[in-house]
Parts: sequence; structure tokens; C-alpha cells
Amino acid sequence: MSVFTAAADQSVCAPLPVLGRDVTVPLVTGGEVTYAALDYAASAPALQRVWDDVAAYAPYYGSVHRGAGYLSQLSTDLFENARKAVAEFLGCRADDQVIFTRSTTDSLNLLARTLPVDCQVFVFETEHHASLLPWQDAHVTYLNAPRTPRQAVATLERALADRNPHGPALVCVTGASNVTGELWPVRELAAAAHAHGARIVLDAAQLAPHHPLDIRDLDVDWVAFSGHKLYAPFGAGVLAGRADWLRTAEPYLAGGGASRKVTRRQDGGVDVEWHESAARHEAGSPNVIGAYSIASACKALTEAGWDTLVAREQHLITKVRAGLAAVPQVKVLSLFGDDAPRVGVISFVVDGWNSSHFAAALSAEYGIGVRDGLFCAHPLVRTLLGSDPQAQGECGAPEAAPGEKSLNAIRVSFGAGT
Ligand code: PLP
Repeated sequence: MSVFTAAADQSVCAPLPVLGRDVTVPLVTGGEVTYAALDYAASAPALQRVWDDVAAYAPYYGSVHRGAGYLSQLSTDLFENARKAVAEFLGCRADDQVIFTRSTTDSLNLLARTLPVDCQVFVFETEHHASLLPWQDAHVTYLNAPRTPRQAVATLERALADRNPHGPALVCVTGASNVTGELWPVRELAAAAHAHGARIVLDAAQLAPHHPLDIRDLDVDWVAFSGHKLYAPFGAGVLAGRADWLRTAEPYLAGGGASRKVTRRQDGGVDVEWHESAARHEAGSPNVIGAYSIASACKALTEAGWDTLVAREQHLITKVRAGLAAVPQVKVLSLFGDDAPRVGVISFVVDGWNSSHFAAALSAEYGIGVRDGLFCAHPLVRTLLGSDPQAQGECGAPEAAPGEKSLNAIRVSFGAGT
């Protein structure tokens, strides 16, 4: 158990204090223990600083873009300043748009609605379902799982070389895997995409909380991430990047805020002029607290200093991986191998243990919160486990006897607040 308590050592001061570090939970063995949250990849606890910022603002909030009153103006300023803070956090280009969404899933679904006619989409089968599935209405090519970063680039290059070079194309790739924590060669994939006239969107749901990320340096066209994995509360996410596809696409939602002018026609119908700014895809009353808390988290991470945050996380990764390596029954899952650069997301199986039972025991007997299952990346986890592509495995997978293949895995994940 020391393997996990090393990562959740409450006595070590995290560079960024989070809420819930002193929550106690009951144990089945009696008594209670301080909860050790090791499921940051699903949702990270909110930063104390974010909570304080929200609490300071909450008494003053009003409607955004809709009121003449002082509080409405204040909220509108906060909302628009949050947009600027996110643009700064991501190193956006001057003409990029930052759109507030509900989550990474929402952001990628929004982008999928903006694809030009006949757009071809290329996506690795290893992606989280949020990146894998939104493209079903396009001409989508699913690329086989690569076993090295170099193979990933070569696979993409081959696929792009075979495509119709005259039509639009989009590559969707994750920055850091939510299963293995491994970093993907985003810069190289972006270069390959652009060399073949394609665009690229980065799923940064797992990268943004762990690494500085710069849209221009990586040369990606769009970035998507979620607030609740970036130490902000649930309910808000971001899609940032090139304005052209966004500006001309049908609005994601039709309604107030997205429309500039609405008129009745002679024939009784209605004509609408839509905004071309981010507002085009933000119809309805926006989640101002969500946007504000994302901006607060972005600032907190930047101010804490990425060198400090990354160094501490890498230290924890080394400790946990060494602890797991010392247990002969444990197999850590990896696509790119032990030496691949990675973030604090580690999945493994324990020989002779059903992963769901193992995770339940960690919670019930030790107060350690992890995740088990296929982590919304079914094809990837089945590849890593070498299991039947059709096998069932999310929750309630059948018991695997010693020596048998597991159908699901256990994941520990942590970060700057751990
Ligand atoms: N992409 C990756 C890599 C993820 O890990 C997740 C969530 O776990 C998502 C996308 C989806 O994020 P959300 O559930 O916030 O939409």
C-alpha cells in the first residue's frame, strides 16, 4: 500500500493546495482515514485558490452580455477577461477564438459540427472516446495503435499521403493518454498534418493539467480541454483555435447570444444573422462561474511555475512506478514503453485480481480513490491487455484467475495538487 500512499502523502506540501485534502472516509475494517484522491485523470479536486476566487465573486454575479446593471457589466467583464486569460494560458494566436463549452467532449463535438464539406478526419484508435467518436458523420479513418511515437508519425503520414489532397482534412490527437499517461508526439504530428494540407486538433484534457502548452509552439490548429481536470469545478471547458471554420459553421446551439439580428420575413418565416465571434457557438446564458474558475486555475498554475509543478509530479511518477515494479504480480500498461515521457496517469493490472475488486478494496480498506475499467478508451485498453476486441470489460468484468488476462485495469492518477 505504500506504493499509493507515496503518491498521496498528505504530510508533503503540494505546490498547489486543493480542496478535500483533509476529508476523512470510513473504512470497512472500522475507523476512518484521510481520503487519498488518486483519480485526478477523471476529475481533479478544485484548487483552494479557485474556490476562494469563486467565493469572492459569487455575491456579485449577474447576467453576461444581457444587462445594463453594474453587476451584469462586472460579470460580462469577468467572462471576457476569462477568455483572455485562457488565450494567454494557451499562447493563442491573435486571431484565434476561445469558446467556452461544457467540457472537452463538448468542445470536440462542436468542432465536428464545423467541418467543411467532404472533410476527411484521421484519428488513432487509441484515443479517448471523446476524441474517437464525434467524427462519425464525416469521412473518418481510424488509424491502428502505434507502438512508438515515431510509428505514430509514420502511420499518420502514410494515411495522409493516401488521401485526396484537394479536400479539407483534420487530424485529432491526444496530448497525453488518459490510460498510460504517455505523451504523444504532438509537434511532429502537427508538422505531418500541415505538410499534407490537413489541420490538427489537440485533445489536451490530460495534457493541460500537467504541462505548459503553447498552441503556437506546438503549431496545432485547435486545443480542447476541460475545467474539472484542470483544478476548476465541473461544468465548463474550452475550444480554442482557428476562427475560420468556427465563423462560417452553423451555430452549435441556436438561440439568444449567438444571433446578431432576427427579423420576420414577408412569408412569415424568420431570418437570422449570426455572430461571427465566439458568441456564435455560445448561445444561451453562459456559465460565467465555470469560465471564471478555469481562468483562475490557469493563472494559479502559471504563477506556481511549471518547472516546480512538473518536477514534483515527475518525482511522484518515479516513486509510484518503482513501487509498482517491485510487485511481481503487477503489470503496468504502456504503449510506447518504459522510457516514454509521461504524466501522472498510471494504469496496471494485478495478476489474480479482478481490477474492479482491487479498486474497491483500495477504497474500502485504505481510503484510496482510484478508477477501474476501460477508461472510456475501450480499443486502447483492450490492445494493451491483449484481450478480445469484443470483450466486455468496463465495470463488473468476470474474475480473472491467476495467469489469465484481465478484462479491465486499475488507474492511479495525480498531479500538481497531490
Ligand atoms: N479526452 C481525454 C484524453 C480524457 O481523458 C477525457 C476524460 O477523461 C476526455 C477527453 C473527456 O473529458 P470530459 O469528460 O471532461 O468531456
